[in-house]
Amino acid sequence: GAVSGDLLYLNGVNKTFDGFKAINNLSLTLAKGEMRAVIGPNGAGKSTMMDIITGKTKPDTGQVVFGASTDLTKMDEPAIAKLGIGRKFQKPTTFENHTVWDNLLLALAGDRSPWFTLRARKQKSEEEKIAELLETIRLTDHRHRRAANLSHGQKQWLEIGMLLAQDPELLLVDEPVAGMTDAETEQTAHLLRDINRTRSVVVVEHDMTFVRALGVKVTVLHEGSVLSEGTLDHVSADPKVIDVYLGR
Ligand code: ADP
Ligand code: MG
Repeated sequence: GAVSGDLLYLNGVNKTFDGFKAINNLSLTLAKGEMRAVIGPNGAGKSTMMDIITGKTKPDTGQVVFGASTDLTKMDEPAIAKLGIGRKFQKPTTFENHTVWDNLLLALAGDRSPWFTLRARKQKSEEEKIAELLETIRLTDHRHRRAANLSHGQKQWLEIGMLLAQDPELLLVDEPVAGMTDAETEQTAHLLRDINRTRSVVVVEHDMTFVRALGVKVTVLHEGSVLSEGTLDHVSADPKVIDVYLGR
């Protein structure tokens, strides 16, 4: 059950799509300040779990509790985002014809008019925030480039920076290193560890080199439930996990 140090608590969550049980009595607890890696075969329910946390998909039964007592299952997607849950999708949502700097400025503007914010770009506090974000996402030297001219990996980092501009307490990232080079993958592990110094993170990923570099507790999902949990070494040696990954 949830205790006071928990940030997120999924309790007996179920979700069926057209008779297919995508999420099956899923329970999971994330501590405040924790970064968790979620792995599992294709179709295990990883993205659906993210959808349920963010309110994109409503569970049939079960609870999703954020912080002390906020039941996310009773809230819509924008309200959940406002609580401080940011989610990175695989498809980039950057403004391609704007610079890295302006993309971050627009993200900081949030609900305010972006055009007003672009005119007010000299504001010191925003400049400081952007400089800080640029350092975190490793794009300081690329701040004047248009998003369209970034590498695939850099674009993913910019997107993470745009989410951080909204100051989420919990960041959800689904397969961040898909399509990245080995060097970008390694940088992404460092970047997420930096972010985790001040925020909680849930990261879904297949890439085991990357998961090892994260060095955090791993949850293995299979058929919509938790199959195994612990260090990467622990879950890798778990016969249940070996069965699922290698076939019986
Ligand atoms: P993962 O991210 O672990 O690969 P998903 O959460 O995307 O898995 O999918 C879990 C299962 O649920 C899959 O079999 C998928 O086809 C099914 N599913 C997910 N979303 C929907 C949906 N909106 N409608 C129907 N089936 C879905
Ligand atoms: Mg997925």
